[in-house]
Amino acid sequence: MILSKGYVADRARAPLREFDFERRPARASEVLLEILYCGICHSDVAMVDNDWGFSLFPMVPGHEMIGRVTTCGAEVTKFQPGDIAAVGCMSESCRDCSHCRVGLEQYCDHISTPSFSTYERGTTNLLFGGFSSSYVVDQRFALKVPSSLDPAAAAPLLCAGITTYSPLRHWKVGRGDRVAIAGLGGLGHLAVKFARAMGAEVTVITSSPGKRDDALRLGASDVVVSSDSAQMTAGAGSFKFLLDTISADHSVEALLRLVRTDGTLCIVGVPSTPIAFSSMALAAGRKSICGSGMGGLPETQEMLDFCGEHGISADIELLPAQAVNDAFHRLKKHDVKYRFVLDMRSLSR
Ligand code: NAP
Ligand code: ZN
Repeated sequence: MILSKGYVADRARAPLREFDFERRPARASEVLLEILYCGICHSDVAMVDNDWGFSLFPMVPGHEMIGRVTTCGAEVTKFQPGDIAAVGCMSESCRDCSHCRVGLEQYCDHISTPSFSTYERGTTNLLFGGFSSSYVVDQRFALKVPSSLDPAAAAPLLCAGITTYSPLRHWKVGRGDRVAIAGLGGLGHLAVKFARAMGAEVTVITSSPGKRDDALRLGASDVVVSSDSAQMTAGAGSFKFLLDTISADHSVEALLRLVRTDGTLCIVGVPSTPIAFSSMALAAGRKSICGSGMGGLPETQEMLDFCGEHGISADIELLPAQAVNDAFHRLKKHDVKYRFVLDMRSLSR
């Protein structure tokens, strides 16, 4: 077994504490990673708080992992020891359903296995995530990271990146399209960079007037403050595509008004209460509301390669692993620009 260290929550809303545990060794098609960096997603906070009601404890969170391959099983062809590899939201899927066969593992007919707070597929063993010194995963679920990217700033691409890249691609955002990104957080700031790199004209919808300059620096050409009714009225009917990354309860109907006729409002944020909007707001303008979850493995690799080509990574604040509780506290207060990444190397020192 591989002696590992991590940060664990023993029960819902508990502070994380240092934790010693054992990982099983890599099997023939698996790699063992020494985790170097792990991003902190709002979903990690929501899972520790059991906001969605399906968390399993004890929980080692973390699903934006960048690691160094230390051991390759005998059948591994994709990696060699020493390579930098990445793992995101999923650790397994059935591999054989209509979704898995076309690289949409996130929508696996038999439910994809997350990378933490789950039982390892086919077992009753709890799977611990990336706030730890090691991770074992099948080579198929490990991604290659372009060498041009700073590995710490690349970590958030594994969830925040693919979760925003995938809908922008699926709804074919491209040159000249007027696109809005609602919520300038971990997901939102990467969405702005992607949409801009795809050629769109990007507007940020924010509840934080102080983020204006950052939004423009990240690639937006305009900023709308959601609490300013004059700005919201002026923006009505403007956007072909609006990506809603907001983590807390908010008025989806107010965002829907910003979408133009035949436009799409795509929701990726997951507030814990159901959303409400009037069907009239949808019908007047033949608008669509839809959602999107993470992204499959081929598209995640495509996104990483796109980031390598376009020099895109997250704006991060790198913290020692020991600062995880402070980071959670600050993330809940929206005091982050724009993603915390934990330096897991400090665990093995
Ligand atoms: P984050 O970094 O905390 O950013 C969320 C942003 O939402 C904030 O920066 C803020 O932006 C805005 N916001 C927060 N509270 C608000 C409020 N009360 N009213 C209006 N706006 C508010 O979170 P994240 O890591 O980007 O995650 C965003 C959401 O996506 C979370 O719900 C997360 O669970 C979810 N998620 C979904 C998937 C998926 O597969 N669909 C994957 C990963 C994460 P402004 O300051 O600009 O207003
Ligand atoms: Zn996430």
